[in-house]
Amino acid sequence: MIDRILFKSVYSLICITLLAACSPVETTKQPPAGARNVILFVGDGLGAGQTALGIQYGRLIGQSELNIDVLMQDGNTGYALPLPYERILTDSAAAATHFSTGQEVLPETLGLNPEGYPLETIVEWAHQRGLGTGLVSNMRVTHATPAAFAVHQGSRYVSEQEIMDDLLQQRDVDVFLGGGARALAPAGAWASEVLPGIPPELDLQSIRTDEAQRLDELVTDGYSIASDLPSLREAASHARKLMGLFAADHLPYVLDRRQMNLTNVPTLADMTSAAIDVLSRNDEGFFLLVEGGRIDYAGHANDPGTLLHEILDFDGAVGAGLAFQRSHPDTLVIVTGDHGTGGFSFAYANLGPIDKTKLNSGVDYQPGHQYPTTEPLEMLHRQDASLQYILQQAGTDPDTLIERVQTHTGLTITMDEAKEALVRDEAGDAWLKNNRIFNDDPGDNATALLGQALSRQTFVIWSSGGHTSDLVPTYARGPGADKFRGAYRNTHIYDVMREALEQAH
Ligand SMILES: [Zn+2]
Repeated sequence: MIDRILFKSVYSLICITLLAACSPVETTKQPPAGARNVILFVGDGLGAGQTALGIQYGRLIGQSELNIDVLMQDGNTGYALPLPYERILTDSAAAATHFSTGQEVLPETLGLNPEGYPLETIVEWAHQRGLGTGLVSNMRVTHATPAAFAVHQGSRYVSEQEIMDDLLQQRDVDVFLGGGARALAPAGAWASEVLPGIPPELDLQSIRTDEAQRLDELVTDGYSIASDLPSLREAASHARKLMGLFAADHLPYVLDRRQMNLTNVPTLADMTSAAIDVLSRNDEGFFLLVEGGRIDYAGHANDPGTLLHEILDFDGAVGAGLAFQRSHPDTLVIVTGDHGTGGFSFAYANLGPIDKTKLNSGVDYQPGHQYPTTEPLEMLHRQDASLQYILQQAGTDPDTLIERVQTHTGLTITMDEAKEALVRDEAGDAWLKNNRIFNDDPGDNATALLGQALSRQTFVIWSSGGHTSDLVPTYARGPGADKFRGAYRNTHIYDVMREALEQAH
C-alpha cells in the first residue's frame, strides 16, 4: 500500500513536470482491474416505464440521446429484481439497504437485517479503509435512500432528528448534499438562521426538540458548509469534507424552482460535480451515492410532465459522473432505480373511428385504435410547473385551475374535471375511490385526479399512486461493469461494487 502511494506520488510529480508527455500514457494503459472510485446513481422510482419515457424523449424529441441511453448502449445492462425479504414489492429504504449492504431486508427498515441486527454498510466499510464517502440527494438527506447508507433503524419513519443524528454520529460520511436543514437547526430556529443561503420559499422552522448545535460541531470537525449554489461552488474548490443543505425540507421539483426563480438552488448535476470535486481529493478513492429522489414523487403524484423533467435532471447528474469517469477510468459508475412508482405508461386509446388511408404501396391502413405519436412527449416537455404547484396556485377556484392548467401545460380541462381535481377530502374521491387503498396520500390524490384528467390528451395512464414491481434497468461503465448482465436480485449491485472496490484497495 505504502509502495503504491509512493509510486503514485512520484508518478504525479513526473506528470506535473512532463504534463504533455504523460497524458498519452494515461489514455492508452490497460483497463484497471478494480475500482478506485464508485459512483452509484439511484433514480428513485425509475422503473422500466420511466426509463423508457426518458429514452423516448431523448431519441425522438430532445437534442441528443440521454446519458442513461448512451450508457445502456455500452452493453453492460441488466435488470434488477427489486424484491425485499419475503415480499414482492419494495420501498426505498429496503431497496437502498440492499444496495448498501447486499442483504435482503424488510420494507421500511434502514441498515438492519430481518432479525433487526445492524448490517455494515458500504459507506462504513469504505470509511474504515480511508476512502472518501458522500451522499447526495435532491430529497432530505435524512430520507430513506441516503439514510440507508449510514443509519440503522427499524423504521425509516423515526424522527428526522434521530436520523440526522445517526447520519452524523460516526462521522463516516464526508460529503452530504441535499435538503433537510430543519433537522440540523436547533429547536426554535429557522433553517435559514444557520444556513443563510436557504431562500424564504424553502425555509421552515427546525423540527428538533433540543438545542444541539450540530452545524457548529461539524465545522469544528473540519466540514465546510454550503447553503446555496455560490457557497457550494466556493466550498467545492477546496473542501475535504462538506455539508451542503439547500432547503429545510426536500429540494423543489426542477420545474417549480424555475417558476419561483430559485436560480441559487443547485441542480442534482451541480451537487454531483461538487461532491466529486471534494471526494476526489482523497488519495484512497471514494464511494458516492447520488439519488434523484423527486422522480419518485412525480410518480406518486401521477404528474407526467414533472416526471419527465425530473428524469432529465437526473440524467444531467449521470452526465457529470460519466465526465469524471472518462478522465478517471478506474471509476465504476452504476445507474439504477430502486423500484417503479405510479405505473407510468403511454397507452393507445379508443377515441372513435379512424379514417382509412393508403400506404405508398397501395395497402389500406385503418388501425382500430389511436396510437400516440411523438406529440405527447412534446406536450409533457412543454409543461413548466408541477401539478402540485398548479393546484397550489389555483386555490379552490375551478376557473382559476382551468386557466392555470392551460398556462402551465398548454392542455385544457373541463369544468367538471377541474371541480373533481379540486376535491381534496380524505378519500381523494372520483376515480381514486376504487384504488384508494393504493393511493393513501391525500396530498397526492388531487394531483392524481388532475393527472388523470389530462390523460385523454397525453395518452398517459397510471396504475397506482404507489410503488410498482417493474423490473429495474441497471447499467454501468468502468471496472466491474460487465457484471451487470441478465436479471438478478438488486443485492447484486452491492456485490459488484464491493468486489470492484476490494480489488483496488
Ligand atoms: Zn416512493
